[in-house]
Amino acid sequence: MAGKITLTMIKPEAVRNGNTGKILDKIIEGGFRIVAMKYLKLTRAQAEQFYFVHRERPFYKDLVEFMSSGPIVATILHKDNAIEAYRSFIGSTNPKEAAPGTIRALYGTNIQENAVHGSDSDENAIIEAAFFFSALERF
Ligand code: ATP
Ligand code: MG
Repeated sequence: MAGKITLTMIKPEAVRNGNTGKILDKIIEGGFRIVAMKYLKLTRAQAEQFYFVHRERPFYKDLVEFMSSGPIVATILHKDNAIEAYRSFIGSTNPKEAAPGTIRALYGTNIQENAVHGSDSDENAIIEAAFFFSALERF
């Protein structure tokens, strides 16, 4: 399914703010098919592992703290050209710079608490999907 899947997380602040249902609805209306879905809370160690690629970035520690601060919804989404399609659907990392109508523009709070994650490459989508889901949990 290379090129057809992406991994998204509804981040802790969006769950806390009661936006889970609205975000899922928008994702489905946007033509993304849910392949797998889980509601869970990452441990600090799991968040560190997920964001290992960012370990040298100045925001890494804060990001790990934030992402393990409450439950998230992790989902595999299917669509043609999924990575690019979903990244343009969610908008820029900083919600203030995100295009109107995108998920981050609508539901993001700031550059860290930006409502959702989206994989940045086919390779990382496969790694991130395997981080959360076994083959038996995908439909
Ligand atoms: P994501 O990987 O969550 O889809 P992204 O690809 O748009 O977001 P990355 O550069 O991969 O952005 O950063 C990962 C996450 O780290 C961001 O979504 C955000 O939560 C946080 N982050 C990025 N830049 C900053 C920053 N300058 N200050 C604080 N947090 C940041
Ligand atoms: Mg990223």
